Amino acid sequence: MRIKPFHSPLRGIGLATVWHDHARCPIAQSIAPADQLPGKGLNLPRCPYCAMLDRWPTPPPPVEEGP
Ligand SMILES: [Zn+2]
Repeated sequence: MRIKPFHSPLRGIGLATVWHDHARCPIAQSIAPADQLPGKGLNLPRCPYCAMLDRWPTPPPPVEEGP
């Protein structure tokens, strides 16, 4: 699900200098709302996870393991 693009001023592990726009992005979910800035920042690239999730709209079915 698309959300409004945002980026974070924080820099650290797992927080690349990218903007996010996908609700299920694990990196986006790790950024506290207070640390989210609206928009795409200054010439930041799009988050690769958001792009990947965009091409993969539904999660794969769980692998059922036999008894
Ligand atoms: Zn993302």
